[in-house]
Amino acid sequence: MTTPCASHQGIDFKGPALLPTMPATHGHGKGGKAMAEMEALASVYPASSFKAPRVYRDDPRYAMLVVDMLEDFIYGVLKCERMVPKIPNVAAVLDASRSKGVPVVYCNDSHKPSDFELNRWEPHAMRGTKGAQVIRELAPRRSDYVVPKSSYSSFHQTELDDILRSLYGGQGANTLVIAGVTTDCCVRHTAADAFFKRYEVEVVEDGVEAFSDVQHEVGLQYIRYWYLCNVLSSKQLIRKLGS
Ligand code: ZN
Repeated sequence: MTTPCASHQGIDFKGPALLPTMPATHGHGKGGKAMAEMEALASVYPASSFKAPRVYRDDPRYAMLVVDMLEDFIYGVLKCERMVPKIPNVAAVLDASRSKGVPVVYCNDSHKPSDFELNRWEPHAMRGTKGAQVIRELAPRRSDYVVPKSSYSSFHQTELDDILRSLYGGQGANTLVIAGVTTDCCVRHTAADAFFKRYEVEVVEDGVEAFSDVQHEVGLQYIRYWYLCNVLSSKQLIRKLGS
């Protein structure tokens, strides 16, 4: 399953030296400054205002989305090393999804040099390169869908919405389980478009990551606040899927 990405012709490609790089990778330790930032965040997006998915609770039809679990994002040029320990959690939810017949969709950056995003970030997940391949640990199965994308949201100029609406005998999926990287970018923008398109979302808390604790927490809190989105552990989700 492929989707041609938008091509932005006429944009001068700038070399990596002129482009920002990802923040330095830090460990999971929550230092004083990071802890203070996270405490401050709690008052920006208060938990008391979160609304969990509710519209489809009597008839949830799940699809699992795996976002950008690619060589370049885990081990390559934009690597998020903090995600590595969480790979088995994503694998576990994938196994549970497949065993219960929940459709799995991989949403993968697959960039062309003319993609506008490459004026912001250094070249990554370039189409046809190893960096654009799903990491070996989570390799797609024959029955899975693979959707190439050219920007942050998995819905932006892709076939994702059409695929989701074709599932369950044409009834369509209505609730999306999301795992992958990064919490505050492609996961967040995918959750946003999901909400706009009337999907509810379950995010795998131990199956998403970002480049720092604070960015991860910002991402989770933001999507919980603005959309109908649960943040559940992989174990909770596997139970919910009925495994
Ligand atoms: Zn990209």
